[in-house]
Amino acid sequence: MKVLIINAGSSSIKFQLFEMENESVIAKGNCEKIGLPGSFISYKAKGDELVEAASMPNHTEALKVLLDKLTHGKLAVIKSFDEIAAVGHRCVHGGWLYFESEFITDEVIKNLEETKEVSPLHASANIAGMVGCRNVMPNTPQVVVFDTAFHSTMPPEAYMYGIKYEDYKDYHVRKYGFHGTSHRFIMQETARVMGKKPEELKIISCHIGNGSSITAIKNGKCIDTTMGFTPLEGVMMGTRSGDIDPTVVSFLGKKKGLNAEEMVNYLNKQSGLLGISGKTNDMREINELVAQGDERAKLARDMMFYRIAKYVGAMLTVLNGADAIVFTAGVGENQEDLREYVMDKLAYVGVKFDRKKNATLPRGTIEELSTKDSAIKVFRIPTNEELLIARDTLKIAGLAK
Ligand code: ADP
Repeated sequence: MKVLIINAGSSSIKFQLFEMENESVIAKGNCEKIGLPGSFISYKAKGDELVEAASMPNHTEALKVLLDKLTHGKLAVIKSFDEIAAVGHRCVHGGWLYFESEFITDEVIKNLEETKEVSPLHASANIAGMVGCRNVMPNTPQVVVFDTAFHSTMPPEAYMYGIKYEDYKDYHVRKYGFHGTSHRFIMQETARVMGKKPEELKIISCHIGNGSSITAIKNGKCIDTTMGFTPLEGVMMGTRSGDIDPTVVSFLGKKKGLNAEEMVNYLNKQSGLLGISGKTNDMREINELVAQGDERAKLARDMMFYRIAKYVGAMLTVLNGADAIVFTAGVGENQEDLREYVMDKLAYVGVKFDRKKNATLPRGTIEELSTKDSAIKVFRIPTNEELLIARDTLKIAGLAK
């Protein structure tokens, strides 16, 4: 049985086609520059890949192009899109109405339109992907999986901000949390690797990529996370500042002649590793700069590591101790000195790890980094959000075996 996963951005649609018999990806790619000049599709299947210019004035047309690639030409993997049993959509924000994956109906789309003011950019793009897919595949069941959903179990003391209560009630201003699909996948994988049920474990999941968040999971449920009303809160990231005193917005805004919205854009897109180094948001390039003696790149890296360790410590307290700490995503999986830095800081709670193993991990494998006598287990586990969306999609569409 095949499931198509769609991750629609404002000008791109990333996609993966899964064969769910063995949970393998049989085709994947990206429609880029949708609605812009120079739109093209990159597509991989059968061990080969192609990049082709294609007219994609909107998401519906882009979806037609990607379905054409799946069904026609030498890299086709299906004869007709009737072979696609269901489509799963990633949606960044479930607003204040959706706390679980949902079967997509007209009502769900209408509700998402109504709640999109809390995440205007992401939500509009995600909705365009859903509507487009329903246009081109009207008879195929479609499911939406929300990045915020896993965090809906946070208790009020974790998700409330210390602002006027009425503003929470009237405007839904609260911590929502993001990367929920990744954190849920990590929880399930950690439990599987440890031979336990998620309900028996306390886990700190560190998703450190270009965007980063750290989540405390207790008995299968999120109880706190670092990202907030938007993904800007929490640790310092590739281009995001992470936590900052909001007064900086008005102070710096005045100095730089930027309004509040422009300042938020500055904090989201021009800050973090990029802002401090002045050169790049990409951790691999930061590493190269540090190796060349670049002081600002080193400061950027130090700041990011420090804030991550600080939040892992906070989550340890929130959980009252942990059974496992897990590193995932581009930086978490590959940056050995980040993991070493955090684990060294946790020596005081009895974390012990194999330094040599941590420094020489093969790419993309699940690895236990802690030693047998460590008080908390530490793992490197690759995340796979698309696979979790595919599993949810089968389940919600009533197709799971
Ligand atoms: P996103 O948040 O966009 O999903 P990813 O999880 O793909 O991001 O992570 C992207 C980040 O991971 C980039 O900063 C990239 O430099 C970093 N990264 C990827 N591979 C490595 C590596 N081998 N070593 C260090 N950092 C890496």
